[in-house]
This record gives sequence, C-alpha cells and structure tokens, in this order.
Amino acid sequence: MQKKRLIFNRARHSISPKTKPRAKLALPSKKLFIGLLGLSLLLIGAAALLSRQEDPQLSAAKNSMPIWNGSFSGKTVVIDPGHGGIDPGAIGVTKVKEKDVNLPVALKVKDLLIQAGVNVIMIREEDRDFGSSSGASSRKREDLAHRTKVVDDANADIILSIHCNSYPNKNTRGAQVFYYKGSPLGPEAAEAIQDRLNQVTGRKRVVRPDNFYMLRNTQGVALTVEIGFLSNPEEEKKLVDSDYQNQIAMAIALGVADYFEK
Ligand SMILES: [Zn+2]
Repeated sequence: MQKKRLIFNRARHSISPKTKPRAKLALPSKKLFIGLLGLSLLLIGAAALLSRQEDPQLSAAKNSMPIWNGSFSGKTVVIDPGHGGIDPGAIGVTKVKEKDVNLPVALKVKDLLIQAGVNVIMIREEDRDFGSSSGASSRKREDLAHRTKVVDDANADIILSIHCNSYPNKNTRGAQVFYYKGSPLGPEAAEAIQDRLNQVTGRKRVVRPDNFYMLRNTQGVALTVEIGFLSNPEEEKKLVDSDYQNQIAMAIALGVADYFEK
C-alpha cells in the first residue's frame, strides 16, 4: 500500500532573546571582538546544522513539536508508563528512578499522538501505583491487574508500555522494543517503532519476543518499549534530558504512525 505522508510544520519556534541585561562595554574594540566572536559562533552553529543528516521530522522535534494532520482518528492507543508510586523500577547509576523517566516520555508520546488524532488512554499521569496491599509482591500483582484491566476495557489498537532497561554490563545501551510472541501483528508494530528509535540512539537493535506480564495478559498489539539503559552512565544522563525525551517520544509516535499507515 502506498504510504501517506504526514504533514509536519517544520518551522521552528523562534528563540526568544535572553532577557539578562548585558554588561556595558566601554571600549569599541571589545565590542568588535564580541561581535566577531558571536559571528564565528553563529557560523560554526550553521555549519554543524548543515552537516547533520538526521531525519528532518526528528530534528524538527528537537525544538518544536510538529503539527500532525490528525489522520489517525479512530485509532486508540493505551500508554502505560511503567512503575510509579512505591515502585521506582530500575535505579540508574546516579540513582535516577526509572518511574521518573517513563512518565515524562509517556506524556510526550501522548501529546504527539493526540495531535495525530489518536484516542489516547493513559494508565497513569502521575507518580502512583495501583496496589493497596502492604506486601510488595501482592501490591505489584494488584498494580499489574489494574493496568491489564484498563487495557482490556480500552479495546486499543496498540498498547505501549514504556520502560527503561538496566543491565550489569554498564556498556550496554540503546532502545529496544519487545512484543508478545503470540501476537501476529506484534513484530510489525514493534519493528516500526524500533526503526525510528534506532535513528535516535544510533544503535541497530532488533525487536524481540517476550513474555512480560503486560504482553502476555492483554488483548491487542501489546509492546514494551525499553527506551534506554539507566545502567549506562551516558544514556542515564540523556534519559533525564527533556530534549532527548522529546526525540525518543517523537520516534515512538512516528513508529506508531508508520505502523498505522501500513
Ligand atoms: Zn521497568
């Protein structure tokens, strides 16, 4: 089938000038020096921009959110930001909590998909879990039961569980999408998102089947999107950066759009 192209507004918001008052410079030569310095920085910046060969949609996402054409009305996506509340998920090398990365990325994906006309159901939009027991394991069970119930009631086209990974080897990094091995459309949907994520991370990771609770126990195309490794110091730093989170969220949203367009 021929792919429809999404319409993006690639214009960037203009950057408002800093409001900090500048120190007065008495000597004209100093002014000239500052002027030349500014000009050369501008040229270096322009050269750097021109030399980059990124997906234009992804680079547009860095500074401004794109305007989607809203062509996915009728589609429903459930977004499940992993963990929350008493359950921090994985802990990064500098103690970043996974739950605190999953949520902002999930909210950014939500905004983008809503712009695309998708009906989005969020499992959580705040730092909370859904258990009430005092014992950790029964509380986790209750939490997951609640999440699967929301998914089952939603009758969604895709369920995106957003997580961060952790691994004993600190060098391991990159994003990876998992699908339930029993889901016929799972690999296709997972690959669409994986391709977009690989463009952001620069890795060539491939999708994998898995048996996570949310994948196994939900109807529809359920995917677990592991957006990066908190055990990798460099990636942990990126994962808390709002611009990087925008890029990851955009990759996920574009992947979903790619899958819907097939
Ligand atoms: Zn997790």
